[in-house]
Amino acid sequence: VSVTSLPRAEVVVDLAAVRHNVRLLSSRAAASGAETMAVVKADGYGHGAVRVARAALEAGATWLGVASLDEALALRRAGFTTRMLSWLDTPDVDYVPAVRHDIDVSVSSTRELARIASAAAEVGRRARIHLKIDTGLSRNGCPAELWPELVKAAAAEGNVEVVGMWSHLACADEPGHPSIDAQAKRFATAYDVMRDAGLSPLRHLANSAATLTRPDLHFELVRPGIAIYGLNPVPQREDLRPAMTFRSSVVLTKRISAGESVSYGRTWTASRDTTLALVPVGYADGVPRTLSGRMSVWLDGVRRPVAGRVCMDQLVVDCGDDEPELGAEVVLFGTGENGMPTATEWAETIGTIDYEIVTGMYRPRVRRRYV
Ligand code: PLP
Repeated sequence: VSVTSLPRAEVVVDLAAVRHNVRLLSSRAAASGAETMAVVKADGYGHGAVRVARAALEAGATWLGVASLDEALALRRAGFTTRMLSWLDTPDVDYVPAVRHDIDVSVSSTRELARIASAAAEVGRRARIHLKIDTGLSRNGCPAELWPELVKAAAAEGNVEVVGMWSHLACADEPGHPSIDAQAKRFATAYDVMRDAGLSPLRHLANSAATLTRPDLHFELVRPGIAIYGLNPVPQREDLRPAMTFRSSVVLTKRISAGESVSYGRTWTASRDTTLALVPVGYADGVPRTLSGRMSVWLDGVRRPVAGRVCMDQLVVDCGDDEPELGAEVVLFGTGENGMPTATEWAETIGTIDYEIVTGMYRPRVRRRYV
């Protein structure tokens, strides 16, 4: 409940854009005979996992992927009955709810295998697992030298069903990087070990970048995340639509004279008499303070520079001789149409990736609205 209707700090998520992006990704996957797992971890990369998951399933995804079992269970509670994979928890995780709620889990070691098998025995139902091979990212995943032992143990374990085998790429966003083929080769070798053990699970390796650029690596299932949200991880142009717009409103305008400074540290001084517009968003709402002096906003359809430092709850826009109306729309970032700033532009300015910008918008103080 809010006492205002104008946006103070508001994220608008365009679900039609999500559906468009998922249709594009899932049709590329389908062309190679693969299904699509929509990755909705981190609350749907800051867009809201439940709404994004629903839109993704409407648009052709048939699986959901999340990082933790807690995230998966939240989706089950929200009513999703679709196939779901969860891949990273702490060593004390209780696998019983995973088995009970039919959630597939990733297994990288014989220890994890033993724990999930015992949870399955307790529930009285086979657990669905995806064995993860580390092909070169060196995060989780079974090291190649331990893989035959893990595969053998999984094949012999009556309490589990080996549904999948998978891995994750380090440099898919740099098409042509030699590590992609090197990882694919290790993945193929690992699959041979599975076949030798009598297992032929579905395989999945491709994130968004590989879904877009490497149809030969689609296998039976792809796992796009960022592209679902309309952000393009590869250099080539793709018809993706950014789903998130971050908006606020003008709450105050004032004239200042040449020579007066703006905001903490007096880092910006007016070179001429000018009109300032105050916007009630700051670093507590997801505007990185490191954008200070390097950002502009889209105010009433015009790009205007932010003057001085970004504060915790506010920033100041230099409007020159124009005087915006109180309540005028301010887009902090959005689709990029008509010169609007984008999350990608923010990321490039401060030396990060747009994943971090949108994921960082999941904040209690930022209102989320769906269109
Ligand atoms: N698969 C795994 C294991 C991931 O951790 C992620 C996200 O980082 C993805 C798939 C989706 O990757 P992307 O957002 O680059 O498409």
